[in-house]
Amino acid sequence: GDGCKTFTLIHTNDNHGRFWQNSNGEYGMAARKTVIAKIRDEVERNGGETILLSGGDINTGVPESDMQQAIPDFVGMNLLGYDAMAVGNHEFDNPLSTLDMQQTLANFPMLAANIYYKDSNERYFEPYRVFEVNGLKIAIIGFTTIDTPKVTNPENVGSLTFTDPQLELPKVLAEIEQNESVDMVFALTHMGHYADGNHGTEAPGDVMLARSVEQGKLQAIIGGHSQNPVCMEGDEYADFTPGDTCKPDFQNDTFIMQAHEWGKYVGRADFEYMDGKLTLANYQLIPINLKVENEAGDLEYATQEITPDSFVYETLKPYQERGQELLDVVISHTDGRFEGDREVVRAQQTNLGQLLTTAYSQFITDNFAVTADFGVMNSGGIRASIEAGNISYRDVLTVQPFGNFVSYVTMSGEEVEKYLAEIAVKTGGGFPQLNAVRMDVDCDAGKVDIAQLGGRSFDLAQNYTFALIHFSAAGGDDYPVINQHPNYIDTQLTDASVFREYFVNHPNLKVADYAPVDGQLQF
Ligand code: ATP
Ligand code: ZN
Repeated sequence: GDGCKTFTLIHTNDNHGRFWQNSNGEYGMAARKTVIAKIRDEVERNGGETILLSGGDINTGVPESDMQQAIPDFVGMNLLGYDAMAVGNHEFDNPLSTLDMQQTLANFPMLAANIYYKDSNERYFEPYRVFEVNGLKIAIIGFTTIDTPKVTNPENVGSLTFTDPQLELPKVLAEIEQNESVDMVFALTHMGHYADGNHGTEAPGDVMLARSVEQGKLQAIIGGHSQNPVCMEGDEYADFTPGDTCKPDFQNDTFIMQAHEWGKYVGRADFEYMDGKLTLANYQLIPINLKVENEAGDLEYATQEITPDSFVYETLKPYQERGQELLDVVISHTDGRFEGDREVVRAQQTNLGQLLTTAYSQFITDNFAVTADFGVMNSGGIRASIEAGNISYRDVLTVQPFGNFVSYVTMSGEEVEKYLAEIAVKTGGGFPQLNAVRMDVDCDAGKVDIAQLGGRSFDLAQNYTFALIHFSAAGGDDYPVINQHPNYIDTQLTDASVFREYFVNHPNLKVADYAPVDGQLQF
């Protein structure tokens, strides 16, 4: 009608290194491009315009991307024509210099209004940008989860402060009001969507942000981080499978959208704007070559097959091939499975925990002028299991994708007892995997009674050396900060490279050699 303007928002989130399709031909940026181009074409023929946004976490997830610092992913995003992205917590998995490189590579802004330099009042990223879409001015504000410093290598974010988005939003709205003239404001976030605002132990997410703001000031939130399809039935998640219709959340007059993860879906929101009011005419989560099992147990397309865009495919192919070459060389073999599934490894000692702590402590013993008595590994840093059979560098990097330096420290028996008492009671990702230890843990008192350490009876008067990753030494998972300890040494070698070397030196592993001893940690 008269004065009615239309535009289409296209969105994805939590790419996590998935520039390429998986081995079943699902998702991938080339097929994503085909879908996006088709939407743009259709919208423009009908006199509309589009904007393409990402809810962040481009980094970390598959070795081919991780080894190439997500360059293929950013090259792909440029080809697909992203207009802006939120800064995700995993953007900080590499040093800031890598993130700066990625910012330079990206033809679009990374937005975050709530990340500041610690020692000044300056923001690290652009807080918002105004886009003109079909004659409408839309301010897009970026926000990043305040949990980031808790779940990231402290070294990478040490110079930064993350402020509360709920407090930052009114400030940015005031800045926009003062400096711009816009028709509407969207938030592009990496904070998570938690139904009805039930965010549990996570930081508050998009629902709480929408509810916190003065009604009518924020028209939509395009999110990420919780990696769910935000398709609602009232205040609860609908039972959603590929191809189903999806109703985004709507809280306090704000639409909230999120498109699962890995580019599995492209979110499409067709908006109409009239007399200062925004309505959602249509919403869809479009599956990107997702497959489901049929009755015969074969995979078939959940909806229809999408032909990957050949230019994007050919441009990204050399990155994929380079990644494959680096990764597929067989380096070892195991006669059984090494357990790293998150529910198991975050709750009990496993053979993979023993293998890792052994590899790291043996590396210290072999390569430095000390003997490591034991190793410590945060279970949250163990990202996958290793199946029986051949082991390649790909497997190594899938288990240890973060690229932490292996480090070690020598402490007095008294210090070590205090340290173990603090980490032994951690839960979730902080639950420790430990080898060569036997101790009773009293969680209520926060105390440990150590019987044996490093294969000998524990003695408060002796010194002990242990290996751990730098992430934990720097206070990750709220472990005691020990990287300032006078006897702390960083080997400058990454966990994956040390782990890899262990496999190369042990070409025939037997899982029985790494079985955790009963009662190693007795709770
Ligand atoms: P997101 O939802 O943003 O993808 P996530 O999936 O990584 O976050 P979790 O799977 O709960 O969240 O993992 C968090 C745990 O990962 C932390 O508790 C920590 O143990 C581990 N972790 C995070 N970053 C690192 C790192 N750089 N090195 C080692 N371990 C890490
Ligand atoms: Zn995230």
